[in-house]
Amino acid sequence: MDSGLYVVATPIGNLGDLSARAVQVLQGVDLIAAEDTRHSQRLLQHYAIATPVMAYHDHSDERAVGKIAECIGGGGSVALVSDAGTPLISDPGYRLVRAMQDAGFAVHPVPGACAAVAALSASGLATDRFLFEGFLPARAGARDRRLASLVGETATLVFYEAPHRVLESLQAMVEAFGPGREAVLAREVTKAFETIRRGSLAELAGFVADDSNQRKGEIVLLVAGARERATEVTPEAAALLQRLARELPAKTAAGVVADLTGLRKKQLYEFLLEIKGK
Ligand code: SAM
Repeated sequence: MDSGLYVVATPIGNLGDLSARAVQVLQGVDLIAAEDTRHSQRLLQHYAIATPVMAYHDHSDERAVGKIAECIGGGGSVALVSDAGTPLISDPGYRLVRAMQDAGFAVHPVPGACAAVAALSASGLATDRFLFEGFLPARAGARDRRLASLVGETATLVFYEAPHRVLESLQAMVEAFGPGREAVLAREVTKAFETIRRGSLAELAGFVADDSNQRKGEIVLLVAGARERATEVTPEAAALLQRLARELPAKTAAGVVADLTGLRKKQLYEFLLEIKGK
Protein backbone atom coordinates (compact mmCIF):
# COMPACT_ATOMS: atom_id res chain seq x y z
CA MET A 1 0.00 0.00 0.00
CA ASP A 2 1.09 3.60 -0.64
CA SER A 3 3.14 5.23 2.08
CA GLY A 4 1.43 7.98 4.08
CA LEU A 5 -1.06 8.80 6.80
CA TYR A 6 -4.55 7.29 6.38
CA VAL A 7 -7.34 9.13 8.22
CA VAL A 8 -9.81 6.29 8.82
CA ALA A 9 -13.45 6.76 9.86
CA THR A 10 -14.80 4.10 12.24
CA PRO A 11 -18.43 3.30 13.24
CA ILE A 12 -20.46 5.61 15.52
CA GLY A 13 -22.35 2.70 17.07
CA ASN A 14 -23.12 -0.07 14.62
CA LEU A 15 -19.92 -2.08 14.04
CA GLY A 16 -21.17 -3.04 10.59
CA ASP A 17 -20.53 0.52 9.45
CA LEU A 18 -16.77 0.02 9.08
CA SER A 19 -16.12 0.06 5.32
CA ALA A 20 -14.38 -2.79 3.51
CA ARG A 21 -11.61 -0.37 2.51
CA ALA A 22 -11.17 0.75 6.13
CA VAL A 23 -10.65 -2.89 7.15
CA GLN A 24 -8.07 -3.34 4.37
CA VAL A 25 -6.22 -0.18 5.37
CA LEU A 26 -6.24 -1.00 9.10
CA GLN A 27 -4.87 -4.47 8.26
CA GLY A 28 -2.31 -3.16 5.79
CA VAL A 29 -0.70 -0.24 7.63
CA ASP A 30 2.40 -0.65 9.82
CA LEU A 31 0.89 1.20 12.76
CA ILE A 32 -2.48 2.46 13.98
CA ALA A 33 -2.49 5.77 15.93
CA ALA A 34 -5.60 5.72 18.13
CA GLU A 35 -7.21 8.33 20.38
CA ASP A 36 -7.74 5.61 23.00
CA THR A 37 -5.91 2.35 22.37
CA ARG A 38 -8.15 0.25 24.65
CA HIS A 39 -11.32 1.60 23.07
CA SER A 40 -10.05 0.91 19.53
CA GLN A 41 -8.92 -2.62 20.46
CA ARG A 42 -12.58 -3.66 20.72
CA LEU A 43 -13.18 -2.70 17.09
CA LEU A 44 -9.89 -4.19 15.92
CA GLN A 45 -10.56 -7.48 17.71
CA HIS A 46 -14.02 -7.65 16.16
CA TYR A 47 -12.37 -7.51 12.72
CA ALA A 48 -9.37 -9.68 13.76
CA ILE A 49 -6.95 -6.84 12.93
CA ALA A 50 -3.57 -7.43 14.62
CA THR A 51 -1.74 -4.24 13.53
CA PRO A 52 0.29 -2.59 16.35
CA VAL A 53 -1.52 0.34 18.01
CA MET A 54 -0.08 3.46 19.64
CA ALA A 55 -1.82 6.34 21.42
CA TYR A 56 -2.19 9.66 19.63
CA HIS A 57 -3.85 12.81 20.93
CA ASP A 58 -3.44 16.39 19.77
CA HIS A 59 -1.72 17.10 23.08
CA SER A 60 0.50 14.02 22.81
CA ASP A 61 4.13 15.08 23.04
CA GLU A 62 6.43 15.51 20.03
CA ARG A 63 7.64 11.93 20.39
CA ALA A 64 4.30 10.54 19.20
CA VAL A 65 4.36 12.75 16.08
CA GLY A 66 8.05 11.87 15.62
CA LYS A 67 7.34 8.14 15.75
CA ILE A 68 4.59 8.45 13.13
CA ALA A 69 6.78 10.66 10.91
CA GLU A 70 9.64 8.20 11.20
CA CYS A 71 7.45 5.31 10.09
CA ILE A 72 6.06 7.21 7.09
CA GLY A 73 9.46 8.73 6.28
CA GLY A 74 10.86 5.21 6.04
CA GLY A 75 8.26 4.34 3.37
CA GLY A 76 5.68 2.95 5.81
CA SER A 77 2.06 3.84 6.45
CA VAL A 78 0.07 4.79 9.54
CA ALA A 79 -3.70 4.87 10.12
CA LEU A 80 -5.25 7.48 12.39
CA VAL A 81 -8.50 6.52 14.16
CA SER A 82 -10.55 8.18 16.88
CA ASP A 83 -12.97 6.52 19.31
CA ALA A 84 -15.86 6.82 16.86
CA GLY A 85 -16.65 8.43 13.53
CA THR A 86 -14.33 10.57 11.47
CA PRO A 87 -11.05 11.71 13.09
CA LEU A 88 -10.61 15.51 13.35
CA ILE A 89 -14.39 16.11 13.51
CA SER A 90 -14.55 17.20 17.17
CA ASP A 91 -11.77 14.64 17.61
CA PRO A 92 -7.93 14.56 17.58
CA GLY A 93 -5.83 14.64 14.41
CA TYR A 94 -5.62 18.24 13.18
CA ARG A 95 -2.06 18.75 14.43
CA LEU A 96 -0.92 15.40 13.03
CA VAL A 97 -2.45 15.91 9.58
CA ARG A 98 -0.77 19.32 9.24
CA ALA A 99 2.56 18.01 10.53
CA MET A 100 2.55 15.13 8.03
CA GLN A 101 1.60 17.42 5.12
CA ASP A 102 4.28 19.93 6.15
CA ALA A 103 6.82 17.10 6.18
CA GLY A 104 5.85 16.34 2.59
CA PHE A 105 4.00 13.08 3.31
CA ALA A 106 0.73 12.02 1.67
CA VAL A 107 -2.45 12.14 3.77
CA HIS A 108 -5.30 9.93 2.48
CA PRO A 109 -8.88 10.04 3.79
CA VAL A 110 -10.75 6.75 4.24
CA PRO A 111 -14.30 8.09 4.60
CA GLY A 112 -17.11 6.56 6.62
CA ALA A 113 -19.40 7.34 9.53
CA CYS A 114 -19.71 10.85 10.94
CA ALA A 115 -22.48 11.59 13.46
CA ALA A 116 -23.13 15.09 12.10
CA VAL A 117 -23.65 13.93 8.51
CA ALA A 118 -25.58 10.79 9.53
CA ALA A 119 -27.97 12.88 11.68
CA LEU A 120 -28.36 15.52 8.98
CA SER A 121 -29.13 12.91 6.31
CA ALA A 122 -32.12 11.59 8.27
CA SER A 123 -33.20 14.86 9.92
CA GLY A 124 -35.72 16.14 7.39
CA LEU A 125 -34.14 19.61 7.65
CA ALA A 126 -32.64 21.44 4.69
CA THR A 127 -29.31 19.93 3.69
CA ASP A 128 -28.29 22.26 0.85
CA ARG A 129 -26.36 24.43 3.31
CA PHE A 130 -25.37 23.48 6.85
CA LEU A 131 -23.05 24.84 9.49
CA PHE A 132 -21.27 22.39 11.78
CA GLU A 133 -20.85 24.06 15.16
CA GLY A 134 -19.43 21.09 17.12
CA PHE A 135 -19.95 21.38 20.88
CA LEU A 136 -21.36 24.60 22.33
CA PRO A 137 -19.25 26.20 25.08
CA ALA A 138 -19.95 24.55 28.43
CA ARG A 139 -20.41 27.81 30.33
CA ALA A 140 -23.87 29.41 30.05
CA GLY A 141 -22.61 32.91 29.24
CA ALA A 142 -20.34 31.80 26.41
CA ARG A 143 -22.99 29.37 25.14
CA ASP A 144 -25.63 32.11 24.99
CA ARG A 145 -23.27 34.47 23.18
CA ARG A 146 -22.52 31.77 20.61
CA LEU A 147 -26.24 31.11 20.11
CA ALA A 148 -26.93 34.85 19.78
CA SER A 149 -24.30 35.07 17.04
CA LEU A 150 -26.17 32.35 15.10
CA VAL A 151 -29.67 33.85 15.22
CA GLY A 152 -29.62 35.20 11.67
CA GLU A 153 -27.77 32.23 10.16
CA THR A 154 -29.83 30.75 7.32
CA ALA A 155 -27.94 27.44 6.98
CA THR A 156 -29.09 24.42 9.03
CA LEU A 157 -27.12 24.38 12.31
CA VAL A 158 -25.55 21.14 13.56
CA PHE A 159 -24.38 20.78 17.19
CA TYR A 160 -22.84 17.92 19.13
CA GLU A 161 -24.30 17.73 22.62
CA ALA A 162 -23.51 15.99 25.89
CA PRO A 163 -26.50 14.14 27.42
CA HIS A 164 -26.29 15.98 30.76
CA ARG A 165 -26.49 19.33 28.97
CA VAL A 166 -29.10 18.62 26.30
CA LEU A 167 -32.12 19.97 28.18
CA GLU A 168 -30.36 23.17 29.22
CA SER A 169 -29.10 23.69 25.67
CA LEU A 170 -32.55 23.19 24.17
CA GLN A 171 -33.98 25.70 26.65
CA ALA A 172 -31.22 28.17 25.75
CA MET A 173 -32.04 27.63 22.06
CA VAL A 174 -35.72 28.37 22.73
CA GLU A 175 -34.60 31.68 24.25
CA ALA A 176 -32.16 32.49 21.44
CA PHE A 177 -34.03 31.30 18.32
CA GLY A 178 -37.64 31.41 19.56
CA PRO A 179 -39.89 28.50 20.57
CA GLY A 180 -41.25 27.87 17.07
CA ARG A 181 -37.95 27.32 15.21
CA GLU A 182 -37.87 23.77 13.80
CA ALA A 183 -35.20 21.44 15.17
CA VAL A 184 -34.22 17.76 15.38
CA LEU A 185 -32.94 15.62 18.22
CA ALA A 186 -30.83 12.75 16.78
CA ARG A 187 -29.87 10.40 19.60
CA GLU A 188 -27.96 7.12 19.60
CA VAL A 189 -27.75 7.13 15.81
CA THR A 190 -27.19 3.60 14.37
CA LYS A 191 -27.65 2.06 17.85
CA ALA A 192 -30.47 0.09 19.52
CA PHE A 193 -32.27 3.16 20.93
CA GLU A 194 -31.89 5.39 17.90
CA THR A 195 -34.29 8.34 18.16
CA ILE A 196 -34.71 10.94 15.45
CA ARG A 197 -37.38 13.44 16.37
CA ARG A 198 -38.31 16.59 14.51
CA GLY A 199 -40.41 19.33 16.10
CA SER A 200 -40.32 22.93 17.25
CA LEU A 201 -37.60 23.80 19.76
CA ALA A 202 -40.31 24.18 22.45
CA GLU A 203 -41.73 20.72 21.66
CA LEU A 204 -38.29 19.12 21.74
CA ALA A 205 -37.42 20.81 25.04
CA GLY A 206 -40.70 19.42 26.49
CA PHE A 207 -40.01 15.94 25.07
CA VAL A 208 -36.55 15.85 26.64
CA ALA A 209 -37.80 17.31 29.95
CA ASP A 210 -40.59 14.70 30.23
CA ASP A 211 -38.50 11.61 29.42
CA SER A 212 -35.18 11.13 31.21
CA ASN A 213 -34.18 8.48 28.60
CA GLN A 214 -33.83 11.32 26.12
CA ARG A 215 -31.05 12.72 28.32
CA LYS A 216 -28.92 9.59 27.84
CA GLY A 217 -26.47 8.45 25.19
CA GLU A 218 -24.96 10.40 22.32
CA ILE A 219 -26.78 13.32 20.79
CA VAL A 220 -26.72 15.58 17.76
CA LEU A 221 -29.00 18.63 17.81
CA LEU A 222 -29.93 20.24 14.51
CA VAL A 223 -31.71 23.56 14.15
CA ALA A 224 -33.34 24.88 10.97
CA GLY A 225 -31.70 28.03 9.65
CA ALA A 226 -33.38 31.43 9.97
CA ARG A 227 -35.74 32.22 7.11
CA GLU A 228 -34.15 34.29 4.36
CA ARG A 229 -35.18 37.83 5.11
CA ALA A 230 -37.03 39.41 2.26
CA THR A 231 -37.05 42.68 4.20
CA GLU A 232 -35.85 45.85 2.65
CA VAL A 233 -32.90 47.81 3.94
CA THR A 234 -34.39 50.09 6.61
CA PRO A 235 -33.70 53.85 6.44
CA GLU A 236 -31.59 53.61 9.63
CA ALA A 237 -29.49 50.77 8.19
CA ALA A 238 -29.12 52.62 4.90
CA ALA A 239 -27.87 55.76 6.68
CA LEU A 240 -25.39 53.81 8.75
CA LEU A 241 -24.21 51.93 5.69
CA GLN A 242 -23.62 55.07 3.66
CA ARG A 243 -21.75 56.72 6.52
CA LEU A 244 -19.52 53.68 7.12
CA ALA A 245 -18.88 53.25 3.39
CA ARG A 246 -17.13 56.63 3.42
CA GLU A 247 -14.56 55.24 5.87
CA LEU A 248 -14.41 51.55 4.95
CA PRO A 249 -14.42 49.30 1.87
CA ALA A 250 -17.98 48.48 0.77
CA LYS A 251 -17.80 44.83 1.80
CA THR A 252 -16.51 45.69 5.28
CA ALA A 253 -19.19 48.35 5.76
CA ALA A 254 -21.88 45.85 4.66
CA GLY A 255 -20.46 43.26 7.08
CA VAL A 256 -20.52 45.68 10.04
CA VAL A 257 -24.10 46.77 9.35
CA ALA A 258 -25.16 43.13 8.85
CA ASP A 259 -23.72 42.29 12.29
CA LEU A 260 -25.48 45.25 13.90
CA THR A 261 -28.87 44.90 12.23
CA GLY A 262 -29.25 41.19 11.40
CA LEU A 263 -29.81 42.13 7.73
CA ARG A 264 -27.97 40.07 5.11
CA LYS A 265 -24.49 41.23 4.18
CA LYS A 266 -25.05 40.41 0.49
CA GLN A 267 -28.25 42.44 0.40
CA LEU A 268 -26.52 45.41 2.09
CA TYR A 269 -23.52 45.18 -0.22
CA GLU A 270 -25.73 45.13 -3.31
CA PHE A 271 -27.72 48.06 -1.93
CA LEU A 272 -24.50 49.99 -1.48
CA LEU A 273 -23.31 49.25 -5.03
CA GLU A 274 -26.69 50.34 -6.32
CA ILE A 275 -26.64 53.70 -4.54
CA LYS A 276 -22.99 54.28 -5.39
CA GLY A 277 -23.78 53.63 -9.05
CA LYS A 278 -26.44 56.34 -9.05
N1 SAM B 1 -15.60 12.23 15.27
C1 SAM B 1 -16.98 11.91 15.62
C2 SAM B 1 -17.84 11.98 14.35
O1 SAM B 1 -17.33 11.87 13.25
O2 SAM B 1 -19.06 12.12 14.47
C3 SAM B 1 -17.49 12.80 16.72
C4 SAM B 1 -16.69 12.72 17.99
S1 SAM B 1 -17.28 13.73 19.29
C5 SAM B 1 -16.02 13.55 20.48
C6 SAM B 1 -18.55 12.78 20.02
C7 SAM B 1 -19.93 13.40 19.82
O3 SAM B 1 -20.43 13.03 18.53
C8 SAM B 1 -20.97 12.91 20.80
O4 SAM B 1 -20.93 13.65 22.02
C9 SAM B 1 -22.26 13.17 20.05
O5 SAM B 1 -22.61 14.53 20.11
C10 SAM B 1 -21.83 12.82 18.62
N2 SAM B 1 -22.09 11.40 18.34
C11 SAM B 1 -21.18 10.42 18.21
N3 SAM B 1 -21.79 9.24 17.96
C12 SAM B 1 -23.12 9.50 17.93
C13 SAM B 1 -24.29 8.70 17.73
N4 SAM B 1 -24.21 7.40 17.51
N5 SAM B 1 -25.50 9.32 17.77
C14 SAM B 1 -25.60 10.64 18.00
N6 SAM B 1 -24.54 11.45 18.21
C15 SAM B 1 -23.32 10.88 18.17
